Amino acid sequence: MAKLYFRHGTVGSAKTLNLLAVAHNYRQQGKHILLMKPDLDNRFGKERIKSRAGLEMNADVLIVDERSLRCRDYTGIHCILVDEAQFLSAKVIEELRNISLVHDIPILCYGLRTDFKSRLFDGSSRLMELADSIEEVKATCHFCNRKSIMNLKHVNGRAVNEGPSVELGAEEKYFPACYRCYTREIDKSRLDTQRAGREDALSIHT
Ligand SMILES: [Zn+2]
Repeated sequence: MAKLYFRHGTVGSAKTLNLLAVAHNYRQQGKHILLMKPDLDNRFGKERIKSRAGLEMNADVLIVDERSLRCRDYTGIHCILVDEAQFLSAKVIEELRNISLVHDIPILCYGLRTDFKSRLFDGSSRLMELADSIEEVKATCHFCNRKSIMNLKHVNGRAVNEGPSVELGAEEKYFPACYRCYTREIDKSRLDTQRAGREDALSIHT
């Protein structure tokens, strides 16, 4: 079963919990699996793959972009599970695609489809192009009961859809949102900013 899977979902869709459940099942059957994640994800410490529900496991391989995944290193593996796959480069996705083919094993990649600006991540884009199976891990919008498809970012309590990916020193939070709520929150925040700007201008003149 040489299938490459892309299981995408917004923040809060329990992707990592899903990944850990699959890993647990394989290991209970005595199968040899590998857990991978990109090296840049340092939220919970380098080697841990941790879900917001509290479950965690160690990552076996930290993927560094400059180092190639060599096909021959994966002989005898039954399955590979990848967390935060959106952060991988196109080159790494192509290497995973090749490993799944050569060793005839399933490779399950979990990740976000788009960033807070609603654009595809590089890794997700290549997975959309190359995966045999694209599955959505569903979650509900933080603001209503529709399905979430967007990742809404708050910086210091204000919704943003532009600016750098990481703002040092700012408090950043992500919410799953449907498109309607996403655009409403962004518009609201834009109006608030304009109003604050006008009030500042008025206070200068008075
Ligand atoms: Zn909504």
